[in-house]
Amino acid sequence: MNQGKALDLLVVGGGSGGIATARRAARHGARVALIELGDLGGTCVNVGCVPKKVMWHAASLAEQFEEAADYGFEFSGLRHDWGKLVARREAYIQRLNGIYQNNLEKDGIQLIRGRASLLSANEVQVGEQRLQARHLLLATGGSPAWPEMPGAELGMDSDGFFALQERPDSVAVVGSGYIAVELAGVLQALGAKVSLLLRKHSALREFDSMLGEHLLDCYEQAGMQVLRETQIESLHQTETGVRAALNNGTQQDYGAVIWAIGRKPNTGGLNLEAAGVATDKAGFVSTDEWQVTSQPNIFAVGDLTGRAQLTPVAIAAGRRLADRVWGGQADRKLDYNCIPTVLFSHPPVGTVGLTEAQAREQYGDEVEVFQSSFRALYYGVLDHKLVSRIKLVCVGAEQKIVGCHSIGPGSDEMLQGFAVAVRMGARKRDFDDTVAIHPTAAEEFVTLG
Ligand code: FAD
Ligand code: NDP
Repeated sequence: MNQGKALDLLVVGGGSGGIATARRAARHGARVALIELGDLGGTCVNVGCVPKKVMWHAASLAEQFEEAADYGFEFSGLRHDWGKLVARREAYIQRLNGIYQNNLEKDGIQLIRGRASLLSANEVQVGEQRLQARHLLLATGGSPAWPEMPGAELGMDSDGFFALQERPDSVAVVGSGYIAVELAGVLQALGAKVSLLLRKHSALREFDSMLGEHLLDCYEQAGMQVLRETQIESLHQTETGVRAALNNGTQQDYGAVIWAIGRKPNTGGLNLEAAGVATDKAGFVSTDEWQVTSQPNIFAVGDLTGRAQLTPVAIAAGRRLADRVWGGQADRKLDYNCIPTVLFSHPPVGTVGLTEAQAREQYGDEVEVFQSSFRALYYGVLDHKLVSRIKLVCVGAEQKIVGCHSIGPGSDEMLQGFAVAVRMGARKRDFDDTVAIHPTAAEEFVTLG
């Protein structure tokens, strides 16, 4: 243990980025301590990726039970127990919390429970304790943003969604990014009456336009109400839930309203000023390409820095930082370009690289696009036909692939391998020269005309 000896690294925040950095630094021989105020694993494990993916699996099962009839299955009395699912999900998360704690112990990292506040560039206060270290790592993540309006507190955020012990019968999901489309999809598939409220005309506006457009089509076909250019102006309590006054002058009653409108950095109480750590206009901690803040001995990784708020990004940035500072790998840093990502919507979306619009803006007439819409074989025997869509964005005479986008069943698992190829500079010809795996959805990428 590190007690009594000078620390090389004091990590603030035991989520994806903080734990990954602490462990890698410790393995390189650094003396490390980590401060965490809540449950180990942070957002991803407790109120993010993990519980979300469990709910996504449940929703996918619900869809398949419905489709199973066309495959000859007969069910009677099928019902879903939301409370049982939540209890089993939370038990799984508790096991993960324990595994994270064991891993810290195994790597000789001192765990300090409590809320950290900076005293200077080398000193941190936790309760009555004062700790000094040569380097600090800020990895305190983010929290859901809330709108400002009368009655906003009657809604809930994604943390509130995961705390639900019963499925609400009718839900308004407000937002148009990752969390909105993921939670709306889960609730719809598990039987709630869902309205998705977009303040603009479309969803997923940061992604290739094909993805958001097709996802909204799929959601509308599944019975979800998509309200475009619609905003809630106020919420009022009713006997059964909440009444929302909309900007189109109407009022709607919902069992629950979920805010999914982005996240803000967890800097409250950190006392960044005491250590001279600068933030950007939105309050995220500014870092250079080496994860160094405006204070040379203080680093920051993950959601707190506001760049690509994804678990593998926080982990990769932290591990590379530790390799560079304590592992003697002087050039090691995270390249934030070409980060693949998946939205666990229904159907899922997988995407890497430039959107068609971004590529056209950057490369003009050099851009060539190959795309396809198809029905996966699975739907051959079903009355319900879901269309999948894929797109390759290529550039130049070599047709270098700069963007690869997919929406449809299997997109979540198929994109990782394609992301490797795109990162390595694959050309359309390399995809064409790869023999297809049949019958799969992924083969569509190597058989595009
Ligand atoms: P966090 O994991 O948030 O960890 C920060 C930690 O710091 C927390 O444990 C917090 O308690 C602690 N802390 C804060 N302030 C202090 C303080 N002053 N003192 C001590 N401790 C403090 N990403 C994906 O890649 N895939 C997904 O499928 C995915 N799904 C998501 C679903 C939802 C609903 C949400 C909200 C997020 C999802 N994400 C997903 C994003 C992912 O969870 C984050 O990108 C990731 O957790 C960021 O890691 P981090 O280490 O930066 O912060
Ligand atoms: P996002 O940034 O993905 O989307 C939020 C969107 O909500 C905005 O882009 C905006 O879209 C809309 N919005 C903003 N303010 C308002 C408002 N007042 N009223 C209505 N709509 C508004 O944020 P999320 O909260 O969905 O997710 C946060 C981050 O967490 C994501 O960026 C992602 O990095 C991570 N995450 C990753 C997941 C994954 O990997 N699968 C899953 C979940 C989260 P517009 O301008 O079009 O209105």
